[in-house]
Amino acid sequence: MSNRTFTMIKPDATEKGHTGAILAKINEAGFRIAAMKMIHLSKEKAGEFYAIHKERPFYGELVDFMSRGPITAAILEKDNAVEDFRKFIGATNPAQAEEGTIRKMFAASIGENAIHGSDSDANAIIEGDFFFSKLEQY
Ligand code: GDP
Repeated sequence: MSNRTFTMIKPDATEKGHTGAILAKINEAGFRIAAMKMIHLSKEKAGEFYAIHKERPFYGELVDFMSRGPITAAILEKDNAVEDFRKFIGATNPAQAEEGTIRKMFAASIGENAIHGSDSDANAIIEGDFFFSKLEQY
């Protein structure tokens, strides 16, 4: 079990000015920020990040959305980080997310759902390394 996960505060949450509030909740929930940057992804880079979803009908929409404006990417550390962070952000569709979760509080729809959280330890490493060199991971 790894103690790190990867997150992005997505363009919808950035646009609405929720970045600070979400970061505060991440800290309050016991996650330590091990790396962080704000970045505006190109369509090409957003497509590369979500390449696993290439065959899904929403892929084009997802790439357009994720390259629409800046995101905040971060690596987070805590015991059982991947599983605990997925619980903390809630279901993909905010309509199904539990009370108190980030997506329940800040997300508008299944597509524009405010935040990303890695779904496995292996993907947490791949995704963190996509954004941060080893020197930028503290
Ligand atoms: P996650 O692990 O909870 O982020 O969910 P998935 O891995 O299934 O999907 C990745 C991302 O694609 C989601 O967080 C959404 O931003 C987007 N997405 C998933 N399903 C849909 C959909 O039906 N329509 C649209 N437009 N976007 C979707």
